[in-house]
Amino acid sequence: MVKNMIKAIRPKEHAGDLVNPFQQSGKWFKANFHTHTTASDGNVSLEIRAQQYRDRGYSILAVTDHDVTSDVSAFCEKDFLVISGMETHPPCPFESELYHLVCLNIPTGFSFPENCSVETRIDLVKKASGEVILAHPYWNGFNINHLLAIDGYIGIEVYNATASKIGKACSSVQWDDLLTYGRYLPAMAVDDAHQGRDIFMGWTMIKARSLSIRSVLNALRTGCYYSSCGPIIESFMIKDKVAFIRCSPAVEIHFIAQKYFGRSFYADGEKEMVSGRYEVPDEVQYLRAEVVDRSGNRAWTNPIILKAKSRKK
Ligand SMILES: [Zn+2]
Ligand SMILES: [Zn+2]
Repeated sequence: MVKNMIKAIRPKEHAGDLVNPFQQSGKWFKANFHTHTTASDGNVSLEIRAQQYRDRGYSILAVTDHDVTSDVSAFCEKDFLVISGMETHPPCPFESELYHLVCLNIPTGFSFPENCSVETRIDLVKKASGEVILAHPYWNGFNINHLLAIDGYIGIEVYNATASKIGKACSSVQWDDLLTYGRYLPAMAVDDAHQGRDIFMGWTMIKARSLSIRSVLNALRTGCYYSSCGPIIESFMIKDKVAFIRCSPAVEIHFIAQKYFGRSFYADGEKEMVSGRYEVPDEVQYLRAEVVDRSGNRAWTNPIILKAKSRKK
């Protein structure tokens, strides 16, 4: 028995209503939802940071400095949406660890009352029309208990570039633990850009009707996106119990489900793969895909929910 094991709380709003971006109309927009500037511990000003992402072809940038907002209005353009945000660090209810919560779409000057709990912070962000993403669980040393102890966040970071400095960029195990439990949340790739090499390494491809904050938040809430460090995913769907994926040239394609279900495919020698197929067993509750290119860069689809797991009362 795990010491200090906490009871998972039942989500108020169950995120079982994910959509498949590859079956939705709209356009793809490249986004980074986690970045720092000199307003906290980033190495460049907001002006330079916005320019860096704009020049690189991104359409969406969220500015999420530690415990402080910035006025981003001057950097928004018709084809470049800058989202006002903040990273906040409330204590975990059952041990001396801090959550790192990325708050998106909060007004300039937004702040939390002193000693505000994690639940209250999430509620206050939502009341301000914002949403919360749980950042870099692997970097924090979080397990399933930490992730289930709170509710209200609409996704986690499956990839965080700045955590690659200690080899903990990829939180796919924590994500699968959540999904296996039945907390059907999507996951994004972010830079968490501070300084140095943690820029343009992981991004989120949003499928949205328009480049408006409303459309983008709606896509985040419904998992209408995929995440990448390089590969392009062109299609991922399940039809007649068969899953298909089409992607840019890859050396690995993984179909991942709960526990021991799923299947991996590896390129035969020099011949890369651009598609994959998997007959989905009846027991599969959710299915997501990961592809890896020859350089080792990875991309992640969000899960398709086949059979929502019923929870014990
Ligand atoms: Zn953080
Ligand atoms: Zn950060």
